[in-house]
Amino acid sequence: MITRFAPSPTGPLHLGHAYSALLGHRMARAAGGQFLLRMEDTDLERSKPEWADLICTDLRWLGITWDGPVHSQAAQLDSYDAPLQRLEKMGLLYPCSCSRADIRAALSAPQEGVTHEVYPQLCKSRPMSDRKPGDALRLHLDKALDLIAGREVHFVETGAAHAGHHAIDPGQAHREIGDVVLSRKGENIVAYFLASALDDAAQGITHVVRGEDLFDFTAIQVILLSLLDLPTPIYHHHKLIRDENGKRLAKRDDARSLQTYRAAGASPNDIFNMLGFNQTV
Ligand code: GLU
Repeated sequence: MITRFAPSPTGPLHLGHAYSALLGHRMARAAGGQFLLRMEDTDLERSKPEWADLICTDLRWLGITWDGPVHSQAAQLDSYDAPLQRLEKMGLLYPCSCSRADIRAALSAPQEGVTHEVYPQLCKSRPMSDRKPGDALRLHLDKALDLIAGREVHFVETGAAHAGHHAIDPGQAHREIGDVVLSRKGENIVAYFLASALDDAAQGITHVVRGEDLFDFTAIQVILLSLLDLPTPIYHHHKLIRDENGKRLAKRDDARSLQTYRAAGASPNDIFNMLGFNQTV
């Protein structure tokens, strides 16, 4: 078993991150496997080496050890070029110049049950030859789904809330995910969905352990892996740690950051207890 913790170093780790890292670490160690640490730092503006350092400090404080060097996506940006070009050759990308305001304006009404915006396909008919400097690149989901239609693409989920085999459901993918950005506007840098899925494959991750908030997006990563003939890991989406009002913790919620607890005199055992872990991890 090879699991990973893949934080974006854009802020301090909070209790929710600690839960995710401890669970992935514990699963790997219990199986005699490996636990890898990957900084998802492709957002070059918001990612800071100071946050990456603090993440390592927090994890060590919790007794978490990782195998091998810390993997930095920003340090290997060119590793994503060939897969992007392959998707382009397959005719699966289109350039997009939309601003957030364009997208909001085109979305007539908030979509029920959807907590994020599904791109309203304003640029869908633009060919790649029309790409302007600064355009993002989006995945043409219709074409991608057509290409994998005969392949019985599916993934296995072991998290309690959705345990089982999941076939790719084109309806769900259209409703809840849409034509995601694979290369970012302005910077021409690989975006999260693709970078993360590619690295899971490149690092030989067998089990992706992460929060339940990412479950609905898993299909797009499985679709991308399938298109690129890469192996699909097993996914384990765990419960989210919430505050006393039931709201999920966010990076800006500094009060629950691990460094704040540490500064207030909490021990790693206090954190384990708060998260419902046994003391021996
Ligand atoms: N980098 C993502 C985050 O910090 C996690 C991605 C993943 O675990 O797949 O939210």
